[in-house]
Amino acid sequence: MSKIYTNPETIGLHAGWRKDENTNSVAVPIHQTSSFLFDDCDHAANLFSLSEVGNIYSRIMNPTCAVLEDRIAALEGGVGSLAVASGQAASAIAIQNIAKNGDNIVASSHLYGGTYNQFKNSMSDMGIEVRFVDPADPQNFINATDDKTRAYYGEVLPNPSFEVFPISEVAELGRPLGIPLIVDNTAAPVICKPFDHGATIIIHSTTKFIGGHGTSIGGIIVDSGNFDWELFPDRQPALNTPDASYGGAIWTEAVKPLGPIAYILKARTTILRDMGAAMSPFNAFMFIQGLETLALRMREHCSNAEKVAQYLTNHDLVEKVIYPSVMEGYAKERADKYLTRGNGGLMGFEIKGGVEAGKKFINALEMVYHVANIGDSRSLAIHPASTTHSQLSPEELESTGVSPSFVRLSIGLEHIDDIIADYEQALSKI
Ligand code: PLP
Repeated sequence: MSKIYTNPETIGLHAGWRKDENTNSVAVPIHQTSSFLFDDCDHAANLFSLSEVGNIYSRIMNPTCAVLEDRIAALEGGVGSLAVASGQAASAIAIQNIAKNGDNIVASSHLYGGTYNQFKNSMSDMGIEVRFVDPADPQNFINATDDKTRAYYGEVLPNPSFEVFPISEVAELGRPLGIPLIVDNTAAPVICKPFDHGATIIIHSTTKFIGGHGTSIGGIIVDSGNFDWELFPDRQPALNTPDASYGGAIWTEAVKPLGPIAYILKARTTILRDMGAAMSPFNAFMFIQGLETLALRMREHCSNAEKVAQYLTNHDLVEKVIYPSVMEGYAKERADKYLTRGNGGLMGFEIKGGVEAGKKFINALEMVYHVANIGDSRSLAIHPASTTHSQLSPEELESTGVSPSFVRLSIGLEHIDDIIADYEQALSKI
């Protein structure tokens, strides 16, 4: 079908699917199957050699997951994507696909705590060094680069600092060196389009805004197709030298007839195959339901969050509100440049009275849920220093932007008067 639509509201409802060819079902079926029948031995051999495209086994591909993959690729403007079991699996696979023992990546220090732990501990145990730099100055990425640097990594709307990542600035520094920029766009689907600013790979935790209802864990990796891996054989050996794990395939050459999908096809057929962090078809179905209303929900999350930011800014017990539209200087300039459809549904604030006041506030909330999640339709709150970020040292807490009195809010879709009423009564108990 020709793409007569280009807007996220429509893409979320239509991209990648029209109807089931056998039953005319309009809703996407849940293909709850581990395996797919081969027509005969030649068919099976062709599928395994990638000379024919088709389903083999649900650890590597599944038709329900494929609809989600096509729809999110369309939403982000990419050429292909890969659904995986969680956001954590998405960041790990995105990196393992091009970096191995002895290599390094340079990452922003403004990261979700789980990503920071993955990079600092598990990646380092695998021999992949992650060099953390302050993204305030994009030049820091170059200063930390050497000939083993395989990627740059940042979070578009980083949780919890909420200072928007300098996407085009870092992408432009890396591109001539053959270094792609991988960004986590979990907190800013629809409101930021990282590929328009030169990012090469996007990952999402679909658990958050894309799912939208707090029901399922999932992740996705999206390939822009905009990076010429073949130009940089020394910098990107994983895609340019024979891959012993796939019959000696040189991915940039082998995949050429299928389009610029060497990166994402390799991720599916080697790392996902070997590590096994596949998304379940049932969860893919749940994320497809979420995508149908994603653009509408983001609009409402942003509108409610702007009002909460204003309310908190004017409250006597609030020291500081951390939200893109109330920032100043370079942080505000980056928010204005990159967040083109609203400033997001997440924010933080520092409460007068430190840790104890922060805990009292959370304990006093009646409607807002106290949970370790973001991007739900319901409003959520947490005190990161004693929960999500509790494994970090005081220095690490400071570099990721979490102070002891910092409270993180994920603003939901309830009526704004009801959201503010709950904060008002909770603040009155301090
Ligand atoms: N990236 C960001 C920005 C997140 O907030 C999270 C989880 O909170 C993740 C990645 C990890 O996602 P998941 O919990 O789906 O593994």
